[in-house]
Amino acid sequence: MARNTEPAWLVEINAALATAVADVDPALWVYGYVRISRDEKDRAEGVQLQAKNQVNHAARKGLPLARIFCDNDLSGADADRPALREVLPLVTRGPAKIVLARDVARLARDYDLGNELMKLGRDRGVRYVFMKDTEYDLTTGAGRKNFMVKVAEAAEYRETNTENLLDRMTEEAAKGVMQGGARRYGYGKVVGIHPITGAEILDRCAVREAEIKVLHEGRDRVLNGESQTTIISDWNARGVTTSAGKMWRVGHFAETLLMEAYVAYDLGEHTDAGGRRCECLNNPEGNGIRVHERTGTRHRAQWPAVFTRDEQDAMRIALRAHRRETDPDRPRQRHGEYWLTGLVECGGIWPEQAERAGQVCGAWMIGTVLERKGKNGPIRQRRYKCQAKDSKKTVCGCGRVFRDAGALEMFVAQAVIAEYENPQILARLDRGNDHAARIAQLQQRIELTTGNLDAEADRRTEALSGGGDEYDLRVIDRTITGLKATLKTLRAEQDSLRSVQALAVLADIGSTPGELRKAWADKGPRWRHEAAARLIEKVIVKPVNVYAAKWVDQNRKTWRFDETAVEVVWREL
Ligand SMILES: [Zn+2]
Ligand SMILES: [Zn+2]
Repeated sequence: MARNTEPAWLVEINAALATAVADVDPALWVYGYVRISRDEKDRAEGVQLQAKNQVNHAARKGLPLARIFCDNDLSGADADRPALREVLPLVTRGPAKIVLARDVARLARDYDLGNELMKLGRDRGVRYVFMKDTEYDLTTGAGRKNFMVKVAEAAEYRETNTENLLDRMTEEAAKGVMQGGARRYGYGKVVGIHPITGAEILDRCAVREAEIKVLHEGRDRVLNGESQTTIISDWNARGVTTSAGKMWRVGHFAETLLMEAYVAYDLGEHTDAGGRRCECLNNPEGNGIRVHERTGTRHRAQWPAVFTRDEQDAMRIALRAHRRETDPDRPRQRHGEYWLTGLVECGGIWPEQAERAGQVCGAWMIGTVLERKGKNGPIRQRRYKCQAKDSKKTVCGCGRVFRDAGALEMFVAQAVIAEYENPQILARLDRGNDHAARIAQLQQRIELTTGNLDAEADRRTEALSGGGDEYDLRVIDRTITGLKATLKTLRAEQDSLRSVQALAVLADIGSTPGELRKAWADKGPRWRHEAAARLIEKVIVKPVNVYAAKWVDQNRKTWRFDETAVEVVWREL
């Protein structure tokens, strides 16, 4: 086990104690134990003071105090008390047998540990000496009983105090109060300077405009298809740091953007534990979400939101799309280039000697660069290509069709933009994608069903405790099963509508034709992909001799491209 690391002040005290007991028989040594508690009343008396009191107490009583062990108990569980775990084996083994503590509560605050300590006294001759209590003779039944009564008192005291603390935390959550701990990125406006310490005074719920701007930039870039690595490299280079003043890391970036606290509260009315309208609903609309981790409840926070729910969903999908290494169906867009990836299919025919000779290939075409020598140095050509073999060297396509990426992308973009500028198509898209009303309706039904489920669960408890017969219980159980199934269906529909909505945000095309044209030029490949994918099922590229072909785009640029050898398959809207 790793040795408990002592704070500097304790190292000093222990060095002095060790010198003082150097000539004393180790069998007479006493080990001190101090602990800082979660309990605020105890915290006032810091561990340093506790240690000093122990040294004085030992001197007064003539106890040869050899060393003090110290635990910081703020973390809670007994498993987190390494110093106690260090001293117990020492006194179990001997020759020193005595532990000095202020009182029983300082040593043990739950039954299991109390029991363990009691047994060490009964079976291994360990003794506990207290500054504020008498010693219990654990070799006698009466002594053990009295000791355990003290443990029980300590445990009970702790439980009521913990409960009070938890109640207070629940109340704070219901008001939408900001959690303690580190400052949340985007919030913590400096509202003044402490007159004595000179430290900044923060309003933890007020926004820091500069950081909100950074969050919005992160959102736009993620939705635009940039990878986490690209974005944080840029931020780190620009000196944009986290709330702790550190460099951004990949995982931390995604976690930050996807924090529920940033999302505008959209979960509707709810009541508190007492059945009254929850206090959090008095906070302004458009504020974020305060999650109460212990109960899983969500409240409207005291701080303004940064993102809408749709935006968060869209970011999650975009971040996930980047993380996904292999899509079972369609190839992944690499490095954000080749925005038609996953939309272009090979229309080639398998050759004579192939297993599928004469059939249409149908493989997804992949973006690649072809380098060849030109008159003025090497020429790089971006192409979509039917790949004959995949990375595992198994045959996956005819490998006989390729097309210039610039020409193909321009051709498809023109077709897509023209389609978006068609008022009929636009109207149909709007109707098809506005699921907000349906999502809200589903939310109401979910809440209603949850309420019914709670009521049935109560009835079940009643029936079990004797208020009903077996028949009642069977009916109730059937109802509960039915309600659970309904809830599952409702949630599934809501989830799927949410992700459709999210995709619509990803491919937000604006409301006027001019906006779309501008967006097409300004926005990234990821956006172009989503915008095209909303209208296009796929683009089939057929083999053709392009060297004889010519196509002029809307900018009067001439491409070596044959438009008759490309078939756009439109989605049914
Ligand atoms: Zn609430
Ligand atoms: Zn092919």
